[in-house]
Amino acid sequence: MKKYLLFLGPPGAGKGTQASLISESNAYLHLSTGELLRHEVDKKTNLGIKIKEIINSGKLVDDHLVLEIVKQNLVLSKKGWILDGYPRNISQADSLTKVLEELNQPIEKVFYINLSEDILVKRLINRGRTDDNEKIIRTRLEIYKETTQPLIAYYKNLNILEYIDGDRDLKIISDEIKQKIA
Ligand code: AMP
Repeated sequence: MKKYLLFLGPPGAGKGTQASLISESNAYLHLSTGELLRHEVDKKTNLGIKIKEIINSGKLVDDHLVLEIVKQNLVLSKKGWILDGYPRNISQADSLTKVLEELNQPIEKVFYINLSEDILVKRLINRGRTDDNEKIIRTRLEIYKETTQPLIAYYKNLNILEYIDGDRDLKIISDEIKQKIA
């Protein structure tokens, strides 16, 4: 049976790394909205230039635009998938619920990966992406707290939330996730 999973958590928690590790071994499609948006930036289209500005300000890209990108990829997916970095606010979560009902692709589990803010900031600074300088990181963390964190309660209410302690060895974390989806 195909499985549909969400990875939720603050920037720097290791969602992308874990989603890659899990999708490799279990044949999921790994859909990272950050990656898909950066791909658009690399194409240097007019849209890409606008997206680049937003990403480098640490703010969120327009909900409609991200939803279109997500939809296109979900419709085409022949495998189960892991969504990483989407949804980022309640409005995106509501849109996703509707789209997934239409596609008959119910989310099985939401993995909420978390760790302390100090470690997040250190990790992000070391990662060195263009949106990883300290000022932008603070903006991203503020937006995370204000708009993304409410999704934890949203998915908890649906009884599909799994908490994962992100402050451990990568392999231990991925083994725990694999066990929970086996
Ligand atoms: P990430 O790779 O998930 O850290 O995302 C990098 C940046 O891409 C974010 O700071 C946002 O500017 C943008 N982004 C990624 N996912 C979303 C989303 N679901 N909604 C809006 N903006 C997003």
